[in-house]
Amino acid sequence: MRAVMESQATPGRANDDYAALGLEWAVVLDGATALKPAENGCIHDVPWVVHRLAGNLAHLLTIAPDVALADALAESIARTCAAHEKTCDLSNPDSPSSTVTILRCRDDFLDYLVLGDSPLLVNRAGKVEPILDERMANLNDYSYEAVMAVQNTPEGYYVASTMPDAAYQAVRGTVPAEGVDAAALLTDGASRLVDAFQLMSWEELFRILSDEGPASLVARTRKVEADGATANDGRKRKHHDDATAVLVELAP
Ligand SMILES: [Zn+2]
Repeated sequence: MRAVMESQATPGRANDDYAALGLEWAVVLDGATALKPAENGCIHDVPWVVHRLAGNLAHLLTIAPDVALADALAESIARTCAAHEKTCDLSNPDSPSSTVTILRCRDDFLDYLVLGDSPLLVNRAGKVEPILDERMANLNDYSYEAVMAVQNTPEGYYVASTMPDAAYQAVRGTVPAEGVDAAALLTDGASRLVDAFQLMSWEELFRILSDEGPASLVARTRKVEADGATANDGRKRKHHDDATAVLVELAP
């Protein structure tokens, strides 16, 4: 596989996104700021957690190429917990968390895992199939108490945070690689032209990625934000968001 990536922080802020690439895999993560960071019991910032998750995933996917993706993620969460369990209260549900999206090319198959709202797009002969975890988008109540009550539970949604078993609740699977030309891993800051702003289809977004590259997708997104676009999907959105896009080309 060949891959190219772009990641840009919200202007003027630290980047809570991360991406990593191996010869056979790609990963993107989108860290979520704690709702009440002063009270969440963790002395670390969001990038600290995101970078540990990413580093552990890269390590495991590299040394154990056949590891099940959910096992790799569960172990990465467990190792990240171990790195701050002595200093932080990991029983607090508001501990820093992250989405995780993984794509791996293995012989004639593609393995994928999507935990949280970082979309994976699979382009099979020009038809783009989005693989989404929409549980976070489907909550009835986004108040602090309501969100904390359902995080990492079957009633709510799952994130990579302090519960390794959340990995097994990800949207995941294996599909034949034959016919797949390319794929893309996006954080929601890079998917908003489709899902938040509803300005184009997944096919049109993928065409920007393929024809112009991930940097152009992010630049176009920033332009739309600067022009005052508003979300049309009913969810409260930040004016800008960290935006990360990885384009993976599979066809020979
Ligand atoms: Zn901590």
